[in-house]
Amino acid sequence: MLSKPPGPADPALLARFAAIVGARHALTDPAAIAPYLSEERGLYQGRSPLVLRPGTVAEVAAILELASETGTPVVPQGGNTGLVGGQTPLHGEVVVSLRRLDRIREVDPTSNTMTCEAGVVLAKAQEAAATAGRLFPLSLGAEGSCTIGGNLATNAGGTGALAYGVARELVLGCCACFRARARSRPPSSASPPRRPRSHSSTLPRNAPAAR
Ligand SMILES: Cc1cc2nc3c(=O)[nH]c(=O)nc-3n(C[C@H](O)[C@H](O)[C@H](O)COP(=O)(O)OP(=O)(O)OC[C@H]3O[C@@H](n4cnc5c(N)ncnc54)[C@H](O)[C@@H]3O)c2cc1C
Repeated sequence: MLSKPPGPADPALLARFAAIVGARHALTDPAAIAPYLSEERGLYQGRSPLVLRPGTVAEVAAILELASETGTPVVPQGGNTGLVGGQTPLHGEVVVSLRRLDRIREVDPTSNTMTCEAGVVLAKAQEAAATAGRLFPLSLGAEGSCTIGGNLATNAGGTGALAYGVARELVLGCCACFRARARSRPPSSASPPRRPRSHSSTLPRNAPAAR
C-alpha cells in the first residue's frame, strides 16, 4: 500500500515559499485558505498550511525549484472546478493557485491562434476569440470558472468535442514549468502540432459548435 506523503510543516520552509510570491499572495489564514481546500459539491476535503498565488511564470518556476530542492509536495489549482479532486490537497500539500496568471497575451486572427496564460478563465478566452471574429470551440458547463491550465490538465471535452476535438487537440504549443526547471516547447517540424479533427486551425472561423 502506498504511504501518504507528509505535508510541509516547517515554518521556516513555508516562509521561504511565501517570500517567492510576497506575503499578500501567500495565504496561511484558515478562512482565506478554506475555498482552496474543497470543491463545490463538498465531495473532496483537503488540508494545507499554505496557498501560493504566483503572478508570473518566474514565480511558478521558483516555487517548483524550491519544492524540488526540499521534497515538498505541491498541488496546482486553476478554477477548482475539477470533478475528481485532483486539485485538492488531500495530504497537506502546498496549493499553487494559477488564477493570477490570467493574461491573454495575444490573439492572432491571421494564424488563428491565441496565446493564453494558464489561469485565463475559459469564458474569457472564448470572448477574446469572438472579439477577433473567431470561435474558440471548447465549451462546458464550468466555463465561467475553469481555467485553460485546468482544461489542458484534465483534457476537457465539452459540447464541441465531437466537432473540434478535446482540449489538447486545440493546442499548438505550451510553456510548462517542471519541478526542476522551466521549459518551452514550441511546435517543431520534427513533431508537428496536432490539429483539430475537422478543421485546419486552432481558432476556426465563427461556426456553430454543434453540427
Ligand atoms: C458544471 C461542470 C461541467 C463540466 N462539464 C464537462 C464536460 O462537458 N466535459 C469535460 O470534459 N469536463 C467537464 N467538466 C470538468 C472540467 O473539464 C474541469 O472542471 C475543468 O477542465 C478543470 O479546470 P479548472 O481550471 O477548474 O482546474 P482545477 O479543478 O483547478 O484542476 C483540475 C486538475 O488540473 C490540474 N491543474 C489545474 N491547473 C493546472 C495548471 N495550470 N498546470 C497543471 N495542472 C493544473 C489540477 O492539479 C487538477 O489535477 C465539468 C465541470 C463542471 C463543474
